[in-house]
Amino acid sequence: MGYLLVDDTASGGLKREYDTVSCKHCQAVIKVKRESGNWCRNCSGPVCDNMECVKRCVPFFKKVEEKLRRQALFKSIGV
Ligand SMILES: [Zn+2]
Ligand SMILES: [Zn+2]
Repeated sequence: MGYLLVDDTASGGLKREYDTVSCKHCQAVIKVKRESGNWCRNCSGPVCDNMECVKRCVPFFKKVEEKLRRQALFKSIGV
């Protein structure tokens, strides 16, 4: 669960607030805009609109190792 603030006031737009959740499969941030989203019963959680996430259950913890490796790479190049 999280919170996202989109501030378009600099370009003459509106400041909008969203509640956000994370996709159980890829950790993408999902803006909560409607009641009916994609839901994985196996993970008991929301998943994003990505077809890979909708069709297959690939829980995020299986990808954590890859993510950690990527973060280590980012760290090594100073990002
Ligand atoms: Zn996803
Ligand atoms: Zn799942």
